[in-house]
Amino acid sequence: MGGAVLLTKGGYWGRVLRVDLSGGEVSQERLFDRELKMVIGGSGYGAKVLLQEVPASVKPLDPENRLVFAPGPLQATRVSGAAKCSIVSRSPLTGIFGETSVGSSWGLELKRAGFDALIVQGRASRPVFISIRDLVVDVVPAGALWGLDAFDASDGIKRALGESWASVACIGTAGERQVAIASISVDKLSVGGRCGLGAVMGSKNLKGIAVEGTGEAPVADPVRLASTARSFDEVLIENSKDYLSRKGTPLAVRPAEALGELPIRYWRGETWNEGAAKIGAPQYDQVLKPRPRSCPHCALKCRREVQVSRPAKYSVSPGPGPEYSTLAMLGSNCMLSDLKAIAKANDLCNRSGIDTISAGAFAGFIMECFESGFITRAETGGMKLSWGDADGVLEFISQIGLRQGYFGELLAQGIVPAAAKIGKGAGSVAMHVKGLDLPAHDPRAIYSLAISYATASRGASQSGGNLPGSSLGTLSATNGSNNGAKPRDMRHTEITVAKQQDRAASMNSLCLCKGVLLGGVDIEEMLDLLNAVTGWGWNLQELVKAGQRITNMQRMVDVKYGVGSADDRIPERLFQPASKGGRSNAAPTETSFAQALARYYRARGWDSAGAPRPSTISGLDITW
Ligand code: SF4
Repeated sequence: MGGAVLLTKGGYWGRVLRVDLSGGEVSQERLFDRELKMVIGGSGYGAKVLLQEVPASVKPLDPENRLVFAPGPLQATRVSGAAKCSIVSRSPLTGIFGETSVGSSWGLELKRAGFDALIVQGRASRPVFISIRDLVVDVVPAGALWGLDAFDASDGIKRALGESWASVACIGTAGERQVAIASISVDKLSVGGRCGLGAVMGSKNLKGIAVEGTGEAPVADPVRLASTARSFDEVLIENSKDYLSRKGTPLAVRPAEALGELPIRYWRGETWNEGAAKIGAPQYDQVLKPRPRSCPHCALKCRREVQVSRPAKYSVSPGPGPEYSTLAMLGSNCMLSDLKAIAKANDLCNRSGIDTISAGAFAGFIMECFESGFITRAETGGMKLSWGDADGVLEFISQIGLRQGYFGELLAQGIVPAAAKIGKGAGSVAMHVKGLDLPAHDPRAIYSLAISYATASRGASQSGGNLPGSSLGTLSATNGSNNGAKPRDMRHTEITVAKQQDRAASMNSLCLCKGVLLGGVDIEEMLDLLNAVTGWGWNLQELVKAGQRITNMQRMVDVKYGVGSADDRIPERLFQPASKGGRSNAAPTETSFAQALARYYRARGWDSAGAPRPSTISGLDITW
């Protein structure tokens, strides 16, 4: 590969690819050292693009919305956890900053092809896919692929390219039909589910993006990087060999139930010991007989591949098995305890291209609506959804994935519009923050999650600062920047949450999987990796400041799209304690939540409306 614009010693090519589908124009732009040090890459780069290029007048499904794919500086360097690629856009589900990430080798190939990011804008007049082979970029007709599910589309794109070894990101039918929880699937292995960014691809008539690269990603100090990566792996393996690598994330289900953290019966249930035992480890291994799988070069091997042959109605070809969040949202949240049915539901979501977390949330919401009499069979054309109804959930997912039938239309734009259409009080039971359905951790068990969900830039988000080790029992004083906060005490939560959000912003910009936190590493080790690959010679304060800057940039995006303090709230149900189980008599109160939120704003340097103050923005050197 020649002609790279190397403005840093390593970690980047200094090159962004832009594809405008309206006119079929392909261009390359330089990325300068100063910009890179401001945003690192990944999520930070996506926030910068939304700040600079997508005004509030541009709606999420408008052609002028941007869809940004950005790997970080560690991509393609064989570092554990670095096979992630951030995808950022204005979300069709929430209307605000939207972000998800994908694994497999897509970001790695984009990096090897010679790009630090891809920006897609415009709308093709007919379905297309983008082919990137090193620096050669083509926009290819994809009419024959339109209508295929995400798995068949991935195969179809590879065939169209002559059975190439390209990595393929694509959408299923849900993305084509602009369902607001549509996901982006990569290589039939990894799914970027949250925020509905598959619908943005669909709105651009973009079925997929195939990437293959032959370059060597630039590294400032290869010897130092290799030795740092080795030590990184040693820590990860030592800390995770007995749980994450051996059992995968299903191991978290039973501890989460015991702690009161598992969503049960759409956040109204209190205990489900028997059910958790049926869907978590070790039952998961006995029923689904999974094979451990790893993202490229990751020592943790936390993923699980499963196959189901019988019963035929739940048959699943070898593919990604349900992880903790899916087990929780499609399982305990809906009172489904049949693992094979959950595996089938997971597979259906992945194929049609919808987020498993939101799909489970929608199903639980509808089950409660039936129970409360908000919906009746007369309105749905005869279909009913009840707690634990596995076959009903499968039909429900099919309707959403195809945007067909009563539920497909009702929920196509997300839970907030659906609750408004149902009326009769449905809005008061819908569990979301800013339109994003709650992820699978109950803030009544870990109070800091209440502030985290309320303030995370994409809406209720576990990646914006949760305590992911809590379910696995790996939470420690250093791993999570606890800062004196206790799980069931709102005091100090503002600092804990701010630190964790900033660390998450750095990790999402380095594109380092947050699974590595469960392996006992933290921001110091990440700093070593960043310095080895870029040669920047940063100290810890500089990396922490970058995380603060990126969090604030994301907030500035949200403020631009209309977010204010009234949106920083959590559903009322989360203030109601349980009478029994792991979180009995525990819940943040509305008063303690409001006080913690006010302290959080002060700690962040935001005004009472929740906007970063000019002094905060200038203090973080944000110049956009
Ligand atoms: S921790 Fe798990 S999800 Fe994360 S990169 Fe490693 S194998 Fe993939």
